[in-house]
This record gives sequence, C-alpha cells and structure tokens, in this order.
Amino acid sequence: MATTGRLATFYGPGEPLRLVERPVPEPEPGAALVRISLANVCGSDLHMWRGEMDLRKLGRALPRNLGHEMCGRIAALGEGVTTDSAGAPLAVGDRVVYRYTFACGRCQACLVGMTRACPHQARHLATTCEVWPYFKGAFGDYTYLFPGHVVFKVPDALSDGMVAGINCAFSQVICGLDVARLRLGETVVIQGAGGLGIYATAAARELGAGRVIVIDGVQERLDLAAAFGADELIDLRELPTPEGRIERVKALTEGWGAHVVMDLAGSIGAIPEGLQMVGNGGRYVEIGNISPDMTFPMDPARLIPRNVSFLPVGFYEPSHLQQALDLMLRTRDRYPYDRVVSDVFPLDQVNEVLAEQDKGRITRAALAP
Ligand SMILES: [Zn+2]
Ligand SMILES: [Zn+2]
Repeated sequence: MATTGRLATFYGPGEPLRLVERPVPEPEPGAALVRISLANVCGSDLHMWRGEMDLRKLGRALPRNLGHEMCGRIAALGEGVTTDSAGAPLAVGDRVVYRYTFACGRCQACLVGMTRACPHQARHLATTCEVWPYFKGAFGDYTYLFPGHVVFKVPDALSDGMVAGINCAFSQVICGLDVARLRLGETVVIQGAGGLGIYATAAARELGAGRVIVIDGVQERLDLAAAFGADELIDLRELPTPEGRIERVKALTEGWGAHVVMDLAGSIGAIPEGLQMVGNGGRYVEIGNISPDMTFPMDPARLIPRNVSFLPVGFYEPSHLQQALDLMLRTRDRYPYDRVVSDVFPLDQVNEVLAEQDKGRITRAALAP
C-alpha cells in the first residue's frame, strides 16, 4: 500500500479545492481504511461549495475533505474487524459500501435505536482534514471508517457505478419512506428527480406504492424517472406555477391529494407547494432542504384540521443501507441503476466537475481516483 494518498480539500465557498498529499492512516482497533473506487457529487456537496450551507453554523470545521457518497475496497482493517455488519467475513480487497457517519452508540438517540439523530455521528468533521486521519470525505484516494462504522460487502453482480449512490441518496430515501410508513397502494409525489428522486421512485414502487408522480423540469431527469417506474411526470416547463402543479396532483388523485409527498428538490419553495399536494391524513417528508437559515411560511391551521404530518428526515439507520443494497441486487434488471451517474472524471478535475454540475450541464457526476 502507498504511504501517502491524495485528498481534495475545501477551504470555503468561492475557493478552488486543492489536491493535497497526506500520510495514509493505519486503522486503530475497530476501524477500517477504504480505497475509494468511485465518489459521486451529491446535491449537498454543491450546497457547501456554493456557500448556501454554512458549515461553521453546523459545527463543521474547514478545511474539509469534501464528498460523502461513494464506494470502495477495503485497504486495511483495524484489530477486531473481521466481518461486515451482516456478519460476512471481511478481508482486504473486498468491495464495500458503508455509512458515512459514525453514531456513538451510547447517547439517548442511539439507545432508542434512532442512531440517525445521534448528535455525535459527525464528530470527525468537527476537526479539519489537517487532523489525523485526514481522509474524512469521498473526494480522495482513501476514506477512514472510524470505530462504530457500518459496512456491507458488495455482490459482484453490482458495479461500482451502480452502488456509489447507495450510502447517501438511496439509503436516505428508503429511510424517508420508512418514516412516512408508506402503505400498499398509496400515491407518492416526488419533488425533484435528481439522484434522490430517481432512487425514491424505484423504492416507492417496490414498497408497494399504487402510483408514483414525479415533478422536475429537466428532460433527462424526467426520462430517467420514467425508466425508474414513475407513473406520471409533471414537467415544470409545462406547468411553471405552483398552483398549476398542485391542481395537476389533485386531478391525478380524484381531488384528494397524495398520501405521501417527498421534498427531494432542495429548493425552499418546494415545501409550501408540496404541503398543498398532501391529502388529508397524509405525510410530507422533508429531506431536500439542508441549508441553514432558509425558511418558509407555514400556516398550522391549514395542516392541523387535515392531520397532515411534516416529517424532517436526516441521515438513516444501518438497516436502510442494507435494504438499499439488497433492493438494488434484487431489482438490478428492472431499473437502470447504472444510468444514475451520468459522467465519470478523474479526481484532479474535481473543480471542473463541481462547476459543471452546478450549471446543470451534468446530472450526477462521479470522480474516480
Ligand atoms: Zn449526500
Ligand atoms: Zn449517539
């Protein structure tokens, strides 16, 4: 194994990321080191890069090794790590997917099994990437899995391009649908057909949704949503106003509205619009808006009598990562998972890739070290 590796460091919005060389860390007991195969550019990476998401307000340090949606191969195992989280033997060279946060296992949230609400899960990001073990993100040659990590071996039938989106986008929407308690036959509206929205379409289908309606304004994304099982597409170019789109959802649901609406768009205006698409007794799942200080007007009197739930969902449980991997394996011939990542670039083009995806010229790019 090499003694040093490259990682892309982010100093703040407007500043180009720099590729630096750092010593390859040796895993402590209970930890693991992964050689990254593929790292996707997730919407939240762009929120940070643009400066919409002020990392310091979230207690995160700069400079930071950017990226978190990825897959790789085990490069080294710390003492005591002999199996993956499903109990299968784990060895150097195995292809893996893994959770990118590290719940403490001993706080009140962890104790009741809601590890996604653990306040300590991102404590490694409270220090900069200048602090050991340096490789704390996805845009680099390695990533360090701290003790308490969750890791699953990847079956050979799934390519790196297929599984790179599992540890953020796919697991995230499966958790969202779990929190929403989607029932058989229900109608789901998905706002935004980026990576999250595409995976949510397939997941809702497989969980038994009766009808999946996807909203977006980019042709490529709408086409992909259709390939992932969307029954109805609402094109922002054809229906440019919230009123028109709300009316369309109502028309598609016999005037009732949807049972579940998911914000996977990441634009604040999607929320008041989406809440009006929810039928009485329905659930609104909020995943997309993660930038601090973006607010929207809410009129509780229009939600309370209708018993509409507003459900923010951040991160996910280990079981959702396993479910995402299993679901992808089982349905790999039904959905074109290999089409979610549109373009792959070398790591040293990280700045160009962020700029291109920001302009919307690329749907979801990936970096291969
Ligand atoms: Zn992400
Ligand atoms: Zn905890």
